[in-house]
Amino acid sequence: MTRPAVLLIAATDSSGGAGLTRDVRVLTDFGVDALCAVTAVTAQSDQRVAAVHHVPPEVVQSQIAAALETRRLGAVKIGMLGDRATLEAVTDSLAHIAAVPIVVDPVLVSSSGGILLDTPGRTALLEKLLPRATLVTPNVPEVAALLGEPVAADEAGLIAQGQRLRTFGCQAILLKGGHASGEAAVDWLIAPSGSVHRITSERVSGSSRGTGCALASGIAAGLASGLSLLEACRRAKSYVLDAMLTPES
Ligand code: PLP
Repeated sequence: MTRPAVLLIAATDSSGGAGLTRDVRVLTDFGVDALCAVTAVTAQSDQRVAAVHHVPPEVVQSQIAAALETRRLGAVKIGMLGDRATLEAVTDSLAHIAAVPIVVDPVLVSSSGGILLDTPGRTALLEKLLPRATLVTPNVPEVAALLGEPVAADEAGLIAQGQRLRTFGCQAILLKGGHASGEAAVDWLIAPSGSVHRITSERVSGSSRGTGCALASGIAAGLASGLSLLEACRRAKSYVLDAMLTPES
């Protein structure tokens, strides 16, 4: 039996903390093959984004086309896109992918504060990419930034923001509560039916890079392997928690 495959549409991070190297590691851990379309090359350390080189949009499109010729996909995971031109090129290419779940991690800024999607790109993300997405995975500041609203003050406000984001046309939203406070780390899955599922784990202190990339890739791996959306989110959250609890050698 062939292993499931996920197409990663994402950028490199020279520090290895986030981006494509992280994504590939997660897929490997889940026994899923990675195909890739590189959107940008970033020079990063954990403290700063030193440079971003945008891959020409037509080259991003040819990578996606070649990946589609190569393997049948089980899912697509979209990470850093960088700018509007790349986002539109990717959205146009997705028109050739039918019935494959698409997980979108709305990467806006790095934890060191570097801009990873320009302002026109944010508008295009809402208007063009969200309607194609099976699942979008914003954290608390990202859902507020995308809506142009203040950060939600409580759980009810956050879920209301998630429901507003869903009106842009994505099927489901996973609101990541890592930036919220509280003893447990809670994520909220707003399912295609509109119902809300709480997914909880213990809260790990400190911050760790690339957790958003890892979560979205883990979910894409689960969907490619035939898990339901809720199962894929639960399994990926527990994987990320384990990774945060395991010190790097
Ligand atoms: N750099 C790249 C290339 C990314 O894809 C991402 C997130 O997806 C980040 C940086 C942000 O990661 P962090 O929040 O760990 O800085």
